[in-house]
Amino acid sequence: MSTANWDLDPSMESTAIVQLQPKYDLFIGGCWQKPKSGKYFATYNPADESVLSEIAYGNQDDVNLAVEAARKAYNEVWSKMSGAERGKYLFRIARIMQEKSRELAVLETLDGGKPIRESRDIDIPLACNHFFYYAGWADKLAEAFPGQKPTALGVAGQITPWNFPLLMLAWKIAPALACGNTVVLKPAETTSLTALKFAEICEQAQLPAGVVNIVTGHGDTGAALVANQDLDKIAFTGSTAVGKLIHKACIGTSKKLTLELGGKSANIILEDAPIDQAVEGIINAIFFNQGHVCCAGSRLFVQESIASKVIEKLKFRLQSIYVGNPLDKNTDIGAVNSKKQLETIEKYIALGLEEGAEIFQPTCNLPSKGYYCKPTLFTDVAQSARIAQEEIFGPVLTIQTFRTLEEVVQKANNSPYGLAAGVWTVNGARIFGLSQQLKAGVVWANTYNKFDPTSPFGGYKESGFGREGGRHGLSAYLQFKN
Ligand code: NAD
Ligand code: MN
Repeated sequence: MSTANWDLDPSMESTAIVQLQPKYDLFIGGCWQKPKSGKYFATYNPADESVLSEIAYGNQDDVNLAVEAARKAYNEVWSKMSGAERGKYLFRIARIMQEKSRELAVLETLDGGKPIRESRDIDIPLACNHFFYYAGWADKLAEAFPGQKPTALGVAGQITPWNFPLLMLAWKIAPALACGNTVVLKPAETTSLTALKFAEICEQAQLPAGVVNIVTGHGDTGAALVANQDLDKIAFTGSTAVGKLIHKACIGTSKKLTLELGGKSANIILEDAPIDQAVEGIINAIFFNQGHVCCAGSRLFVQESIASKVIEKLKFRLQSIYVGNPLDKNTDIGAVNSKKQLETIEKYIALGLEEGAEIFQPTCNLPSKGYYCKPTLFTDVAQSARIAQEEIFGPVLTIQTFRTLEEVVQKANNSPYGLAAGVWTVNGARIFGLSQQLKAGVVWANTYNKFDPTSPFGGYKESGFGREGGRHGLSAYLQFKN
């Protein structure tokens, strides 16, 4: 079906390992409960537009029941349990996730469209590691914050996006539980299946009823969760537009809030950089997961003296990229998550042309069914162009040049966002200098999109506030008595 300069035989991952039910209810208080509205909605495989399952559409009544169940579990069980006992449950969950990692990886790819190579090697191992890591902190909170008497907040409402479904769930649930909170989580509507599998894992781990509740639904289900009066904390990852609505809804309440929002991250290549490694790094930074990455290196800044060479190498490399069925182990770029997202990306590509930028796409064929987008480069991009300013959330890279470090710092920071950045150079002093000056939560040097549960992640400016991961990630779920 693909594409590139050469043809590889397909190497398809089998889907036989995935056990799916035709219909999923809500996971509330340790039971599977029918939605009060009686409504269900379909979840699709974006690679071929087939229906995978039907999912319950939760409303305000369902959300309220879930929060009640979480409150009861908090008061009666979870807040009374020692950290060491909580840790044992988290370790057990992590081990079961690891045992089921192949099923989870295939399911993540089926429901979301990302290449199996990524869900198998990145999403699922990182999600398991997150549980292992926070399991280890559960009985060491006093040591993590000496003299500050850390205690749980209570019940957390958590809302996740579709780009890393199980990993974002792990970022939210693992630290919350380790700190002694109970949770109600609303996964994204296009990718709820691994969250529902996670509910089954909680059952298998015999996690006390109500500690984790999963309420599926659309944006209004998320809004209902935010509106509930009995939550102590809201944690949201998603778009800046929805983040602003949630921020407003929490003003004047006692809810604590963390927001992980959008990005338009700069990847900066200096003239002394090892060019071939940098080219691979640029490709990984923007085309990984179809560009559905909040911290994607979507703006490339190349020093003028090497610009034509870098652009030429990028075009050559793109010509050998495999776009196609995400279950094929050869695939580099899988399916865009939804029709709606594909339309957004296509709108931005048309806008780039209207704005006068020059486009390059490889000459690959796309599958005839499903939602696919060719990897796209734009050169001759003005700093003020909307394609260089707004988050596209797709496999589209804008390329600009610069002469001096002062100039690139100014251009890179001239963005409403500040989630991440990349710097490519062999000069250590320049790495330290630039990472001081770039207004971004993470600055990667000679690499990109590297994640680890021990390291905090989060943004500046309109990319949100609060940190997830590491010891910082614990403090988002604790209150301190001193
Ligand atoms: P989205 O904001 O539309 O949806 C995110 C979640 O919020 C979904 O579960 C959705 O159902 C829910 N939601 C929608 N409207 C809501 C409302 N009014 N109240 C409460 N909940 C509501 O975002 P998306 O399209 O799912 O994800 C893409 C966005 O997420 C991108 O902007 C991306 O940058 C961002 N993102 C950020 C990070 C990060 O860590 N900073 C990680 C992943 C994605
Ligand atoms: Mn889906």
